[in-house]
Amino acid sequence: MTAQREWFEKDYYAVLGVAQNAPAKDITKAYRKLARQYHPDANPNNAAAEERFKEISAAYDVLGDEERRREYDEVRRLGPGAFGGPGNGAFRFDMGDMAGAGGLGDLLGQMFGGGGRRSGAGVGPQRGSDLEAALTIDFVDAAKGLTTSLHINAEAVCSTCKGSGARPGTTPKRCARCAGRGVTEMNQGGFAFSVPCSQCAGRGVVIDHPCGTCRGTGVELRDREINVRVPAGVADGSRIRIKGRGAPGRNGGPPGDLFVICRVAPHPVFVRDEMNLLVRVPVSFTAAALGADVAVPTLEGDTVMLRLRAGTQPGSRHRVKGRGITNGKSTGDLIVTVDVVVPTTLTDQQREALLAFAKEEAS
Ligand SMILES: [Zn+2]
Ligand SMILES: [Zn+2]
Repeated sequence: MTAQREWFEKDYYAVLGVAQNAPAKDITKAYRKLARQYHPDANPNNAAAEERFKEISAAYDVLGDEERRREYDEVRRLGPGAFGGPGNGAFRFDMGDMAGAGGLGDLLGQMFGGGGRRSGAGVGPQRGSDLEAALTIDFVDAAKGLTTSLHINAEAVCSTCKGSGARPGTTPKRCARCAGRGVTEMNQGGFAFSVPCSQCAGRGVVIDHPCGTCRGTGVELRDREINVRVPAGVADGSRIRIKGRGAPGRNGGPPGDLFVICRVAPHPVFVRDEMNLLVRVPVSFTAAALGADVAVPTLEGDTVMLRLRAGTQPGSRHRVKGRGITNGKSTGDLIVTVDVVVPTTLTDQQREALLAFAKEEAS
């Protein structure tokens, strides 16, 4: 333990002036150089040099040995409490204090496991868990919003017993042991604890004739159709919360919520950037040079005219205001990137005209 504490406090890498990831041969080289420099023979009657020499030696004792260096690195990484053999990289917690002081460990065991037959059977009403489902939406639908139905297979209130857990025609009866409270008092080491009632597993009721469908849990796995209203302008990855449509609660608790994760499919023409829509439009090189009005497609399916100045550059971006995504609160723009198209074939006349142009350009 002493060695570990010392290791933790001393930076041997700094002592030798090497990086923590330095290869072994660099460490040896650094050690030899320093050892020569501070060796007592070279520094007679120099206490400081002697002290330094000892430090250097101690550092090399550890860093010069592959195995010990690994242990040292581990101790430095985890702290001095992490004493263990080589390869033991984890903290070891000493449970002795807790376990010895009168069975707290034992008590914890009873609180968390021993009291209930069913895991998750707690005390009193419990809210149902939240569920998550993915919904893939068409790009245009996501922009405009839609109402659709989502198919999920998840926990639902049992359709046979309506959640009571009792076979139809029978009713759960109040637990006699806990008088319906779901908990019983327990005394240990002078402390009183409430623990889930072992008779009813914390439910407060006992079911003599369990429902055959849900085996008394009141919950069954069922296919469900859920209507989802997707607001206009929904973005890929956004979550829609549908309150109360998650898993049913236990012991009369409220149901959880359903979170619908929207996956917006890509569009062949448009790309979304926050509230803006991006589109690339091909423009002939003459139109770019001379200027022109070009038709730009919109998400609504129509076109808008975009005026390009003479000398429009390839890759330049042009904004059509208010034709992006709208969600009722804000509206983005349509951002048009110009792709200048160079012809791959020329007619004789075009070729002549371009040659004349080139001649003019050169002079
Ligand atoms: Zn049932
Ligand atoms: Zn009970």
